[in-house]
Amino acid sequence: MLTDSLPRVSLAHLPTPLEEMPRLRQALGKGPRLLIKRDDQTGLATGGNKTRKLEFLVAEALAQGADTLMTAGGPQSNHCRQTAAAAAKMGLRCVLVLGDGPQPRSGWNGNLLLDDLLGADVRWTGDRDRDTVMAEVANELAAAGAQPFVIPVGGSVPAGAAGYVAAVEELAGQLAERGEQIDRIVFVSGSAGTHAGLLVGVKALGLDARVEGIANDKVGDLRTKIRDLTGATTAHLGLDLSFSEEDFILYEAYGTPGYGVITDAERAAIRLLARTEGIVIDPVYTGRALVGLIDLVRQGVYSSDETVLFWHTGGTAGLFARAAELLG
Ligand SMILES: *Cc1c(COP(=O)(O)O)cnc(C)c1O
Repeated sequence: MLTDSLPRVSLAHLPTPLEEMPRLRQALGKGPRLLIKRDDQTGLATGGNKTRKLEFLVAEALAQGADTLMTAGGPQSNHCRQTAAAAAKMGLRCVLVLGDGPQPRSGWNGNLLLDDLLGADVRWTGDRDRDTVMAEVANELAAAGAQPFVIPVGGSVPAGAAGYVAAVEELAGQLAERGEQIDRIVFVSGSAGTHAGLLVGVKALGLDARVEGIANDKVGDLRTKIRDLTGATTAHLGLDLSFSEEDFILYEAYGTPGYGVITDAERAAIRLLARTEGIVIDPVYTGRALVGLIDLVRQGVYSSDETVLFWHTGGTAGLFARAAELLG
């Protein structure tokens, strides 16, 4: 295994299912054969892609003697909820720095409800910057004799990205078992960790598949982050790989409405997948990615003799926090 040199704990239900989506394909009228990799089924209190990252991050924390996991995110962060569940499972404390903004008066729903049930100590940023509050809380914990381990937002560091290198090996095994090949992997690209891990895994295994990220937000410096983290993850695993400009594929346009903004396109994509395949996705991440996939199929970018794998990265719990906007 490519990740054998790294410490890892077992948190996820693996392998996650690999399924075909014939009814979605039919509904789109034309286009490629569609597969879906169900990382909404990784476990840790409703699943998601952070669970694969946490197998490596939590192992690092334990190796350093940590007794507390700390991380930060938005109030509906899937990453924070999976971290809280990982901490509970491993008998560690969990402190979550949530914001931006004050504690909501209502809406302790979705991921936030789960954070509370999972026993996380939630701190609100108020009008202050997340990183400042994280540093302050880490100092406070250390002064009280705790050993906090700080996981950066999204777990998008080489150890976290290694989770998606291992995920590509898992996928390659499933494809080999079925005697199948894929031409593209389409997924949502947020903080670069999943994207970098997929790129390293595909390159290291020599899979002939394009790794195509769909941005879920205005991209900012995401391209640079993906490039840097791909290099750092390659080095972290002791691999010798070279990447060229055309390996880095990021569709930016679908992210332009901004983070978490639900448009009619997301509402339609979520309903279409639910009603054709019985699979739910969230508006913030996977819904955006499906908007992109559907549009690319309609534009004829993917031909009907190709196989496209849609990587479901989770987000199920976050769906419930947005009920009013999804029904409206
Ligand atoms: C965090 C998250 C992503 C983005 O993953 P990155 O590795 O940060 O790009 C995608 N989908 C869901 C549901 C997430 O929670």
